[in-house]
Amino acid sequence: MSEAQAASLTSHPTNDPIMPDVIIIGAGASGLMCAMEAARRGRSVLVLDHSPEVGRKILVSGGGHCNFSNRSVTRDHYLSGNPHFVVSALSRYTTEDFLALLLKHGIGHHERNEGQLFCSGGSRRIVHMLKEECQRASVRFGLNCAVQEVRRIAGVKDARFSVATDHDSFQAASLVVATGGLSWPGLGATSFGHALARRFGIAVTSPRPGLTPLRLRREDAERFSSLSGISVQAAVSSGGRRFEGGVLFTHKGLSGPAVLQLSSYWDGNAPVELGLLQGIDLEGHLAEKRGSKMQLKTFLGRFLPDRLAGFWCDLHGHSRPIGQYSPREIQEVCRLLRRWELRPARVEGFNKAEVTLGGVDTRELSSRTMECKKAPGLYFTGEVMDVAGQLGGYNLHWAWASGQAAGQVV
Ligand SMILES: Cc1cc2nc3c(=O)[nH]c(=O)nc-3n(C[C@H](O)[C@H](O)[C@H](O)COP(=O)(O)OP(=O)(O)OC[C@H]3O[C@@H](n4cnc5c(N)ncnc54)[C@H](O)[C@@H]3O)c2cc1C
Repeated sequence: MSEAQAASLTSHPTNDPIMPDVIIIGAGASGLMCAMEAARRGRSVLVLDHSPEVGRKILVSGGGHCNFSNRSVTRDHYLSGNPHFVVSALSRYTTEDFLALLLKHGIGHHERNEGQLFCSGGSRRIVHMLKEECQRASVRFGLNCAVQEVRRIAGVKDARFSVATDHDSFQAASLVVATGGLSWPGLGATSFGHALARRFGIAVTSPRPGLTPLRLRREDAERFSSLSGISVQAAVSSGGRRFEGGVLFTHKGLSGPAVLQLSSYWDGNAPVELGLLQGIDLEGHLAEKRGSKMQLKTFLGRFLPDRLAGFWCDLHGHSRPIGQYSPREIQEVCRLLRRWELRPARVEGFNKAEVTLGGVDTRELSSRTMECKKAPGLYFTGEVMDVAGQLGGYNLHWAWASGQAAGQVV
């Protein structure tokens, strides 16, 4: 903790730096939202984070433009072992609530891809806004502060938890764990929240990477490497899930929004079908070319990048003039283009994952307050718990909604 930050702890009006009402571990999206909500209610709030700055994931989110929410946020946009869990918090903190906060701070937004809401001034403005709200409500921060031990104090109402850091020890009646998931460790992600939950006897469902690229087997990746950098609009599907959108060929496999979406649902085994040329009447176009000497790859190059059209034709042994194809063969070509079966080896790891699937088991928590049923006064908010959103602003929205739900009661 820097001198200035330590000073900000002691400058609180109560002059009691070690006994705030609420300690929040994690100054990310949900921790900041919880802090401002609780402090507005008059609670004295201390936020601890081992990082040197607050909201680092918000800063990189949405490619620096923060896809902060979505026009439509429903439980169907979330993955959790307990799908109904999100309903209460989402119904009490809506997209309009966050938009009202932006409006209050004069921050503009824009919509992309039917519903995804981005900050027009860049992510930094959102972090600035949250900091400002926290400052106005006298939230105190301890940054660069590593939490070493958390203990439960039995029999004391106002100090149920003691938190020892590498600088000081604190006690509070409410402890909020807002330490996020495991994705992007370079931005401060740790397994602290999961470990703490386990120590308090709270179940944690096994964490795994979500919203992450798919890796092909090494031999396939080498073959596909000539496609690296090509991006197309396509559908990807596996195990009954289907997403349409951008698909990017990389030198290791597949990425792009549609692939990231599917990755969260992929079982790690089933083939993935890539559906090219969606919404194009391929059969009709090919019928018009019946008898033509045009090579199939030249024809497909009208709808697909040349490199991809050539690669696909070579891979499937379809390097003939269109006129030499029988109607049945044409049908088969169209089917294969819409159901190009690929066999990924695995998903990329937490280094490339936008979200963590699994986490603190939500059956252990109150869906209204985020408080642990087994440990009164202990709360979990945001990505640390077993709630992961689809791509499109849903993860940040969950951080806001769950942070606010806890902030109203801590
Ligand atoms: C590259 C990238 C882009 C993304 N873009 C979007 C997007 O556009 N839209 C969207 O909805 N979601 C996006 N997400 C997901 C979203 O950022 C997260 O789901 C959200 O930030 C989770 O909020 P949180 O408060 O739970 O955790 P975080 O925001 O991750 O905050 C956790 C905080 O806890 C701190 N911490 C961790 N361990 C400790 C410890 N041991 N001691 C002290 N402090 C600790 C961390 O330093 C961090 O400040 C993106 C994620 C990534 C990685």
